Amino acid sequence: MGFNAFSGAAGQDFSDLLRNTPPSRAYAGASSEAAGFSDESLESVTGPERRWSWVEIDLSAIRHNIQVAKRRLAPGCRLMAVVKANAYGHGAVQVAKIALSAGASQLAVATVNEGVQLRRAGIDAPILVLSEPPASAIPLLLHHRLTPSVYTPEFAIAYGEAADRHGVRAPFHLALNTGMNRIGVRFDEAVEFVRQISFHRALEQLGTFTHFATADCAETLDFHMQLRRFKETVAAMRAAGIDPGLVHCANSAAILRYPETHMDMARLGISMYGFHPCPETRGYFDLRPAMSVHARITAVNTPPMSEGVSYGMNYRSTGSVKICTIPVGYADGYVRALSGRTSVVYAGHLCRQVGNICMDQCMFEVDMRSHATHRRLDPHVGDEVLLVGAQSPAAVSIEDLCDVLGTIPHELCCAFSLRMPKVYLR
Ligand SMILES: *Cc1c(COP(=O)(O)O)cnc(C)c1O
Repeated sequence: MGFNAFSGAAGQDFSDLLRNTPPSRAYAGASSEAAGFSDESLESVTGPERRWSWVEIDLSAIRHNIQVAKRRLAPGCRLMAVVKANAYGHGAVQVAKIALSAGASQLAVATVNEGVQLRRAGIDAPILVLSEPPASAIPLLLHHRLTPSVYTPEFAIAYGEAADRHGVRAPFHLALNTGMNRIGVRFDEAVEFVRQISFHRALEQLGTFTHFATADCAETLDFHMQLRRFKETVAAMRAAGIDPGLVHCANSAAILRYPETHMDMARLGISMYGFHPCPETRGYFDLRPAMSVHARITAVNTPPMSEGVSYGMNYRSTGSVKICTIPVGYADGYVRALSGRTSVVYAGHLCRQVGNICMDQCMFEVDMRSHATHRRLDPHVGDEVLLVGAQSPAAVSIEDLCDVLGTIPHELCCAFSLRMPKVYLR
């Protein structure tokens, strides 16, 4: 088949149709009634039916991973499910609901908007905002019962005063900087800080926490220093008559590696989504990635030998391959730096991604030479491809892509949810 910009899925030629479309019809405007389609019938066209690429989220994997973490925690230690950044790209509302039903008692978000989204979805559990928002967001915190992290006296006082004016409490968690030097009151100034704001009757310290910079690292010196500073600060607060509320510091790596960090509550992020925080935990914990990335082939070309593929043409055909196009690009999180350095899973085989990944599409090659080891593949428009996932015996994991890119699963998971619709499996 020659190059034809208007070739459709079934190989029809739409070029006449497009040419003959009268302008009045083509530009009839946004009214769906004009063409006779009801809003309901349009809404019923699902994401993967609108564009042949989607992300699947296996909620049973998330449930399983939470149970793995919970079994690790001491009885009585609460679990806080970290669902910031749209639950690391997995969908905040869906993940929050499954996490709460699987035994999490609290949720954590990064931004006020993320908290509001959960409340609007009817979620009633305590929600901690993991940093101190600007004071201008205080009405939203109070209205939606979002608990801020606090570490400046200016915010604390403004928050307490606003709560007082509305006759409500101003609950907060005190964030301590024990050495990561990102946010928080420096550990050795914590007692003084609490004294400074404690005159305010509406303020209520529901928790005290810190965050580890190196809980996932092989080197443990800095981790132990942070932990010691945190414990000593909590002890000093208690000695000064300050109730620290729920004391928490563990992220996924600390939950799995350091039981002494569990305390009153532990904050589970990346491992809830099925990823090991570090190589050390592999083999000890059975975590299952919840996310897989899917597409369908939108075009199959058979370029003659030495013809290039994609922008820059830094890949050239050997003449015995089919080039398959899928509608996933770097705007969908398929990072351009992966170009020519990864594979996709097609019909149980690994097939090399070739040519530069474009903004919205990319290509992979299917070797058409006969192999002794496997049957010849016969790719067609509409066939399903996995960019991330397993189809025995072939598999590509988010971690595989991270190894190529020198990044962590957190970043790639967020990226894959940028534009692709999500399909939930239970
Ligand atoms: C993101 C975050 C977590 C979760 O970390 P993971 O490594 O993904 O488990 C916990 N605590 C704070 C303060 C965070 O910002």
